Amino acid sequence: MTINLRNNEAAVRESRLGSITAYSGTLQDLGNQSCNGCLSEKSRCFSQASNCNSMCALNQAARINDVAIVHHGPSGCAATAMDVPNTWGLLAETLGKSRENFAWTCTDMKESDTVFGAIDDLKEAIIETYNRYKPKAIFIGASCVSGVIGEDLESVIDDLKNEVPIPIAPIHCEGFKSQIWASGFDATFHAILKYIVKPPKTKSNKVNVINFAGGTTWDSRGDVKRLLNALGVEPTFFLASSTVEELKKMSEAIATISTCSTLSSYIGNGLEKQYGVPYIRSLQPHGVVGYEDWARKLAQVLNKEKKVETFLSKEKEFYQPKIDAVVEKLKGKRAMIAMGPGFGVNYARILQSFGMTVEHLSVWHFDKQNDDGQLPSAFAYQLEYSDNNFTFSVNDLQNFEYLNILNNVLPDILITRHAGTTVWSSKIGIPALNVFDEYTSFGYKGTLRFAQGILFAITNRSFTDNLAKRVRLPYKQWWLKQPADTFLD
Ligand code: SF4
Repeated sequence: MTINLRNNEAAVRESRLGSITAYSGTLQDLGNQSCNGCLSEKSRCFSQASNCNSMCALNQAARINDVAIVHHGPSGCAATAMDVPNTWGLLAETLGKSRENFAWTCTDMKESDTVFGAIDDLKEAIIETYNRYKPKAIFIGASCVSGVIGEDLESVIDDLKNEVPIPIAPIHCEGFKSQIWASGFDATFHAILKYIVKPPKTKSNKVNVINFAGGTTWDSRGDVKRLLNALGVEPTFFLASSTVEELKKMSEAIATISTCSTLSSYIGNGLEKQYGVPYIRSLQPHGVVGYEDWARKLAQVLNKEKKVETFLSKEKEFYQPKIDAVVEKLKGKRAMIAMGPGFGVNYARILQSFGMTVEHLSVWHFDKQNDDGQLPSAFAYQLEYSDNNFTFSVNDLQNFEYLNILNNVLPDILITRHAGTTVWSSKIGIPALNVFDEYTSFGYKGTLRFAQGILFAITNRSFTDNLAKRVRLPYKQWWLKQPADTFLD
């Protein structure tokens, strides 16, 4: 187990899990290298800008409704805060929750601070933020600058304990420390586990549901609730629109379950190790196989196996014939997938269950193990059951590589989870479907929705065709014809 709460910070994924950001090969080759312990990072002699892990870390923390973030860095780093008021404010509004105590402030470090330090400015910013907004906890967001000059963020906790009587939790998400932005998930969950979660006083009937937004597009929270209620338990959704009070009680939950193993590995394993809360290690609840595995593994822990079968069979009876009717029209279609590693391998399984051929899977990084030392279960499933040994690449949003692959694969459809990736596909005339909402293919209902979405995208091509005719690509034909791994050592 790679989690140690005595440390001030989570080790980054590269060193903790042996994760990589550059690979070009096949599913089975990647599996062999991962299992034999010989998977190593390749380097690029050229690369485009990617994401900073502090963006990932602090955006996670910003989902909590009653906390404040004091970003200890130059104001440029705090551009990370840009989409926070819209996205998470809107979600809270939709759910009828309050965010009046939320704030994101910044110490605006300057050049002189890199010489003299700025810990006093940080203390002043924390006190001011507390007095103005009265949050229930304050996260200190580290930056490259605070990290390089070695600011002692932990010293602030003791120094301010009388003036700021709430938890203060440093998040060590200095951008230079990791090339993998998902390290930011772990940085935030480490701070939550170390400084916010309290030892259990009792055991509740709550299940910690770790998800990204817990979207409201399709009453997804309602769908999860209906399943969990049938098993006699209640969900608490983290981190979007959660509260500090709910975080404190994560240790009292009866289990932890998640919609994404990349997101939840650290907190799920951490809660299990520290407080004995069982972490459900299942496939993600996407597609029929994933949903059934998710529901059954949870039911096993709750000793509700019969109840789950009754619930599933009723739902399946209604949706499966509808799914089959749509899927009939998708058989034989060729697909490429480009998304994060957790979702990518799960979506490969769904497309194969539709009778489609996955030609290529491109993921933003690859974890050869989770925090329990096990191969991620959806990847293990692919190694065992995939119909073909599809080509596989790992690139951290390197569009120049990814567009090259797409241009060579020329699938009938590209499935993505990030808008910036989707648009490139449309520009070269390949229909794309963006499954940004993590509940797009949740359960039987979501599987039907996803299959219908693919059918719609494939059969309504006029937008993509017209766009491709009018767009001038920044890439020349000679580049598009080269092998995609040209820049990999
Ligand atoms: S933390 Fe570092 S990498 Fe991230 S935005 Fe700031 S300077 Fe850039």
